[in-house]
Amino acid sequence: MNAPSHLLPTLTAIRQVMAEHILPLEPDFLNPHLGFRTLLPRLQQVRQHIKDRGLWAPHLPKAYGGMGLTLSEFAYISEELGRSPLGHYAFNCQAPDIGNMELLLAHATDEQKEKYFLPLARGDIRSCFSMTEPEYPGSNPAWLGAVAVKDADSYVISGHKWFTSSADGAAYAVVMAKTDPHAENRYRRASMILVPMDTPGLTLVRNVSVMGHTGEDYATHGEIRYENCRVPLKNLLGPEGEGFALAQERLGPGRIHHCMRWIGISERAFELMCQYAATRQVAPGKLLGEQGAVQGWIAESRAEINAARLLVLHTAEKIDAEGQYASRDDISLIKFYVAGILQRVLDRAIQVHGALGVTDDLPLAYWYRHERAARIYDGPDEVHKMSVARRILAKYK
Ligand SMILES: Cc1cc2nc3c(=O)[nH]c(=O)nc-3n(C[C@H](O)[C@H](O)[C@H](O)COP(=O)(O)OP(=O)(O)OC[C@H]3O[C@@H](n4cnc5c(N)ncnc54)[C@H](O)[C@@H]3O)c2cc1C
Repeated sequence: MNAPSHLLPTLTAIRQVMAEHILPLEPDFLNPHLGFRTLLPRLQQVRQHIKDRGLWAPHLPKAYGGMGLTLSEFAYISEELGRSPLGHYAFNCQAPDIGNMELLLAHATDEQKEKYFLPLARGDIRSCFSMTEPEYPGSNPAWLGAVAVKDADSYVISGHKWFTSSADGAAYAVVMAKTDPHAENRYRRASMILVPMDTPGLTLVRNVSVMGHTGEDYATHGEIRYENCRVPLKNLLGPEGEGFALAQERLGPGRIHHCMRWIGISERAFELMCQYAATRQVAPGKLLGEQGAVQGWIAESRAEINAARLLVLHTAEKIDAEGQYASRDDISLIKFYVAGILQRVLDRAIQVHGALGVTDDLPLAYWYRHERAARIYDGPDEVHKMSVARRILAKYK
């Protein structure tokens, strides 16, 4: 499915920015001896350039400085940006901020928008999303330990979270905590509350080491303790007890964002694999790409990426036309299907490159380490498969 013709000039401009400004930053990003903070001044310059060219925050309405694209239009952009680990950050549409921006845009009060949404939309601050807890199963988010107890004009939050991505350096967290622990409907027990990171009682315990990397700043996954963290009642986001519904709402488009980013990663890995196979000699005059095994990986990868791309674009169009609820099966299908293809394509690309594939001279090893989690976050594969299969089987009863 080709991008609609009206998007082509934008995609061309984005490809140019990626080639001229973002890919040159990649070697330093991949260098394990340099942290993310080292890159920030240069990334800031690139972000300003992107703003000046009118390509900033493609997912946001124009009134907030964005490009005003629909979800299915943004899907094509996300694919392009996914070709570099820095793409989404440079254009201010990186997770978890993009999900928080969409959430705040839909549910924040005017005062919350002023304080929490607008600085995020401008790229002046970052945020994080704090739901998962080490002691409870993240795959069953209706079952949480964190509580927010009302005391006069405040919520007092206590809880233990981890994998709060990008908490290091964030200005605030969107925290999921139980406001009505005994509500009969277990999906109405929790709420979302905006908690500034400098609130007394909030401790960023550590950046959790993932596949050998703790990272820093944006590129982290934080463990956080909330110990009697007091925030005003007006920091409640959306209605009380609606935390679970809001989380579901946040995750629908979020899965399109992730899936199209994964398609972008797969395309880049595929391109690297083909370039290498077409030029690497395994014996004098004998190219790697002449080997049947390599040809098989190339053909299989091409078919799988094409199929995944069509499935995601179809789902994005369906969400735009019919809404998230009508598209929930499609969303679950793409979530596990594309994550699996991403993993297979990356694995083949690494294999084709031999030792070079596992170095940090190419982005393949970085993605292999960090995107293994694609089959876990935003709902593990098994949970998505289970919910789709249950609904399918219900039709046969
Ligand atoms: C890189 C990364 C970034 C993340 N970022 C964030 C973030 O920013 N904010 C946040 O709040 N959370 C974040 N998470 C957490 C993520 O959402 C959870 O890890 C996920 O929901 C799974 O929860 P869990 O880890 O507690 O696994 P569990 O719920 O304990 O599940 C463990 C395993 O059990 C299996 N399983 C679970 N349920 C079923 C079932 N019904 N049927 C069959 N098998 C099942 C699955 O294989 C699953 O992987 C992130 C996680 C990762 C890895």
